[in-house]
Amino acid sequence: MTEHADVVIVGGGVAGLIAARELGNTGREVVVLEARDRLGGRVWTDHRLGRDLEMGGTWVHWTQPHIWSEITRYGLKVTRGPRPEEAYWLAGQEVRSGSLQDFMDLVDPGMRRLLAGTMDWIPRPDDPTGNPDLAAADTWSVQDKLDELRLPAEEYHANEAAWVGHFNAPPHEGAFTSALRWTAAAAGHWHLMHEASAVFRLSAGTRALVAAIAAGARADIRTSAPVRAIEHDAHRARIRLADGRQLTADSVVITLPQNLLGTLDVSPPLCDEKRAAAREKTASRGVKLWIRVRGPVRPFFAYSTAHHPLSVVRTEYTGTHDAVLVAFGADATRIGPHDTEAVRKALTVWRDDLEVLEVTGHDWMADPHSGETWMIHRPGQLTSYLRGMQRSEGVLHFASSDNADLWAGFIDGAVERGLRVARDIAVKH
Ligand SMILES: Cc1cc2nc3c(=O)[nH]c(=O)nc-3n(C[C@H](O)[C@H](O)[C@H](O)COP(=O)(O)OP(=O)(O)OC[C@H]3O[C@@H](n4cnc5c(N)ncnc54)[C@H](O)[C@@H]3O)c2cc1C
Repeated sequence: MTEHADVVIVGGGVAGLIAARELGNTGREVVVLEARDRLGGRVWTDHRLGRDLEMGGTWVHWTQPHIWSEITRYGLKVTRGPRPEEAYWLAGQEVRSGSLQDFMDLVDPGMRRLLAGTMDWIPRPDDPTGNPDLAAADTWSVQDKLDELRLPAEEYHANEAAWVGHFNAPPHEGAFTSALRWTAAAAGHWHLMHEASAVFRLSAGTRALVAAIAAGARADIRTSAPVRAIEHDAHRARIRLADGRQLTADSVVITLPQNLLGTLDVSPPLCDEKRAAAREKTASRGVKLWIRVRGPVRPFFAYSTAHHPLSVVRTEYTGTHDAVLVAFGADATRIGPHDTEAVRKALTVWRDDLEVLEVTGHDWMADPHSGETWMIHRPGQLTSYLRGMQRSEGVLHFASSDNADLWAGFIDGAVERGLRVARDIAVKH
């Protein structure tokens, strides 16, 4: 006999686990099917380079209401890396250096001008498509709008590299509306947006968050259980795993990232918006690397341009004998997370005094269970696809940070969608 559950959740990342906890608490029988041999999805604390490092999602903030509530609920603590004491950036071929404040002063005019209309375009970040005029702004990339500012080269490249840091994508591919959404969620203030997305991390790692949610979920959570296909009608769904096993369920929650939605064989097929978004893919396709260098090193950060393999590097941990840097680049095909030689070369753009000892990271683009890093829309995707991405289709429901309203692409967005979809199911079925 085929096994039956009230709810099957496809994916045990943050969105899936939150949905499992909430639905389990209503007394429903919940089964989570996770493809990987671990939970957490795009959050993953792993022990590398002698420390517990975040391969994926890391920074959280009290302006992110859904994740902050989880932090409070589980008594988690946040901490921060060392404050940078020096900054490096480029003026053409020349390397400039100064204080953190010098760099902030350099990018501030560009950031302010670029984001000046934020709260007009997106007055309600919790309703990001609420402004009927937004489709006009959704034709532009962030690069289009930066180009319009006609900034001096030094300012331009500093701003451009900062957007690679935010978008993990080439700026000509990332939607201007994604920049507006991030900034609107920080009440229009770019400094706060920057702090919200890049400063405070969980002291015990995202591992502690994932473990706490999973421990609190009254659900049957199965790892190494990739789902291949789903057939559904108005009343129930049949879920087929890659190994041939099958389950039926009254409701299904699909938590796959945007880029993977097309890999599930769903019958009848998903709506046009979901399939188009999966085909087009997100703009984000970059790298996040961890680099151990010989210490001691004064905490620093460095910005280059969007065209360099690494656009942003900064000290995240310092010790007497070594330091660990975190680095981001726009394009995962330019530099791999284990290519020590390429990383060594990339760092010499700014400094030739750093001795690279080890390099690590996870290639999320090549990972068949993510296929993207953190979701950044391409121009047009927000206004064309978001509502379709969120829409339930019969007994199928969709919960991913990628289709969140507020902090989409963040851990916060995953919690938001897990909560929302669990509530929809609890009310409807
Ligand atoms: C490098 C990187 C850095 C980031 N930095 C930050 C940050 O600093 N701050 C922040 O807030 N966010 C950050 N993010 C984003 C954040 O991690 C994600 O938005 C969030 O974790 C997504 O959660 P999710 O549950 O929606 O999706 P996922 O975590 O992707 O969960 C989906 C789950 O589905 C599983 N799955 C896929 N296919 C199948 C299948 N066929 N069958 C069964 N299971 C399947 C996957 O294995 C995965 O566990 C970062 C992400 C990355 C990759």
